[in-house]
Amino acid sequence: MDPLDIVMHGDRIEPHFQAIFSADSHEILGYEVLGKLQDRGQLVSLGSFFHDLSVPDDFKIEIDLQIQRLAIDYYLEQQMDQHLFLNVGANYFAADTDDRLLNQLLEYQEKGLDLSKIVIEIMGHEASNNTDSLSHTLKYLQTFGVKVVIDELGTGISNVEEIMLLEPDILKVDLEALQSESTSTNFNGMIHYLSMLAHKLGAELLFNGITSNYQFHYAWRHNGRYYQGDLLSEVSPVFLEKGMLKDRFRHDIQQFIEIERNKVQAKFKLTHRLNEQVSDNWKEIKKNKPLDEQIDSLAKTMGDIFFRMYVTDEDGFQQTVNVVHEKTDWSWDTSAKGKNWSWRPYFIENVIRMKQEQIGILSDLYNDIDTGERIRTFSYPLDEHYYLFMDISPMYLDANEDLLW
Ligand code: CA
Repeated sequence: MDPLDIVMHGDRIEPHFQAIFSADSHEILGYEVLGKLQDRGQLVSLGSFFHDLSVPDDFKIEIDLQIQRLAIDYYLEQQMDQHLFLNVGANYFAADTDDRLLNQLLEYQEKGLDLSKIVIEIMGHEASNNTDSLSHTLKYLQTFGVKVVIDELGTGISNVEEIMLLEPDILKVDLEALQSESTSTNFNGMIHYLSMLAHKLGAELLFNGITSNYQFHYAWRHNGRYYQGDLLSEVSPVFLEKGMLKDRFRHDIQQFIEIERNKVQAKFKLTHRLNEQVSDNWKEIKKNKPLDEQIDSLAKTMGDIFFRMYVTDEDGFQQTVNVVHEKTDWSWDTSAKGKNWSWRPYFIENVIRMKQEQIGILSDLYNDIDTGERIRTFSYPLDEHYYLFMDISPMYLDANEDLLW
């Protein structure tokens, strides 16, 4: 539809709502407000109008003000106490020189609207050219209890500094691009990073675009507190019963818990087995030869589990060559000997743990710097000076699916 047509026919706009569910109560926490237009007996979504960069912000603000009025009127009329998520373009406040958006909300507050139930979803923050004034307005709104969401994360490049400046309460991540387990490790990496960022900011994660069980499970596994998508509830012209999915949430999350538990148990089992194996085999190795040779002998007792093995001291200085296992070949790579690995994530912490508890540690999955493949590392305290590091081969992980979790 022509943008001008839409602006001309503001009277044909209807507010619609998509429920957002909460992981802790299993109930509807609130609704995102979405605009639709009656056009020759058909309801047309206004999504493309709002995402069209050639449409002036003034047009969009006009339409959004209208959608917000209709939605809030209906919200008040229904005496709702859940949250209402309103979409606001990142450039709106700068373009809205008369502060119409702000004033409209304040007028509704006088009519009895509890502003702490209003959540502002900031769209297109990456295209915003006025982050300072945006952040200023949002902070003002936050003093009334209004919450702030950064919308549309996961679809493009986001500027961390900008996100931090806006001090959001919620990060909203789109899972539409996530179709199956084969989705690139880049996507997983980005979600992992957004999850850490949320944690640092003290913000919650809202996952949107949930259309499959796989995405629902993924959202739960990645610490999503709030969920939205057609799988759970489609866009609707009316508000729904708050507890409509309680049974489903209970059932599905119970399954997620079972799966998680099995995977974590498999990890514990492997850690335990590796501890025993390494400890038993290490005892058998004669210590009257150079450390390189001792490690070489140990490596050969470990079969196909590892592709790289070496020893460091507690400061992270590598004391041996890398013993490398490729197919049926064992070889020594001397280039890493003497290098320092103390800068690696968790290195110091893990060494202290090994020293204290006298037990080996299995790392989380990560991407190997050299091969780019997903691996895990098992580390083990050989004695009070030497720590063994063994990179588990991707083939072994593939054969033990639980470990690829
Ligand atoms: Ca939105």
